[in-house]
Amino acid sequence: MRTSEARVLIDQKTISERVLELGQTITKDYADKELVLIPVLKGSFVFAADLMRAIDLPLAVDFLGLRSYGDDTKSSGVVQITSDLTHSIEDRDVLVVEDIVDTGLTMSYLLENLKTRRPRSVRVASLLHKPSRARVSVSIDYLGFTIEDVFVVGYGLDHAQRYRNLPYIGHVDPAAAKG
Ligand code: 5GP
Repeated sequence: MRTSEARVLIDQKTISERVLELGQTITKDYADKELVLIPVLKGSFVFAADLMRAIDLPLAVDFLGLRSYGDDTKSSGVVQITSDLTHSIEDRDVLVVEDIVDTGLTMSYLLENLKTRRPRSVRVASLLHKPSRARVSVSIDYLGFTIEDVFVVGYGLDHAQRYRNLPYIGHVDPAAAKG
């Protein structure tokens, strides 16, 4: 089920080195501040778990569950919050942690939503970005890797709920992986 179906795009070592670098940059940028990390479920939970351990700051974690309507592999920009934050973010420094920004529609919806809750600041950390598919511009403050327009799985990302446990980012052909 595993490696034979997903071609390695970004290996485990490359991911962990980049995540460490991001954590160090975030630690410097927020020196003396207390962060609220908001991983967007489900795809970002593996990235968030590694990233938070690379950040040497006092921080809180609160999860946000989103469902983006569309078919299996494409977002429509219509987003539903399936599980909301448990604490207020008013006057807090918030870092949203996302697995991938593709069209940007999901993140742009989310940022608008979070702004209404009056945080002191909101920044975005995303493991992956597919700029070629952008439909709205989203500024990513901490980016792991820019990738081509291919469907990726692993390191938290799924296809039909599978592949999240791959320790690397792999590429699958969504049509071939069906069933
Ligand atoms: P956007 O709204 O930016 O188009 O889509 C964001 C969401 O679409 C991501 O959080 C992710 O759930 C899903 N997505 C976009 N591209 C990929 C991909 O290549 N692989 C996987 N597994 N999910 C993707």
